[in-house]
Amino acid sequence: MTFAELREVASRGMSIQSHGHSHRDFTRMTTVEVREELSKSKSILEDKIGKPVTEICYPYGRFNSDIEEIARELGYTRGWSLNPAHARNDAFTRGRWCVYSYDSPLSVRMKLGRGPFSRIEAIKQGITNNLSRGERFAFWTD
Ligand SMILES: [Zn+2]
Repeated sequence: MTFAELREVASRGMSIQSHGHSHRDFTRMTTVEVREELSKSKSILEDKIGKPVTEICYPYGRFNSDIEEIARELGYTRGWSLNPAHARNDAFTRGRWCVYSYDSPLSVRMKLGRGPFSRIEAIKQGITNNLSRGERFAFWTD
């Protein structure tokens, strides 16, 4: 998706938010690096789409209190984790679902439902994020 396309969907009401600048695992970075990741992605997106960027979805769902504090200091107002096991559902640790390339219409419906199938999907999503190395998807090879 190009920045022109992002600007277009943002103008139609879609929320465009940050996922970091380089998609690295923030918990494996120094606080200086995290600050740069959060700041750079926010300023580039705001410049390109012309709207405030106030939410961060932590790459691989990984975060800690230092990362939350840096995000808050930089003007973010909400943080999201793709890892249901780590989400606490306060302003900076909200949980969300991800649709992966291996998902199907049925698995997406199961994620959005309630009960045992939704729990199975939560476990699959948690495994996907826990197995990732912080650089790329766990099962990719060079
Ligand atoms: Zn990601």
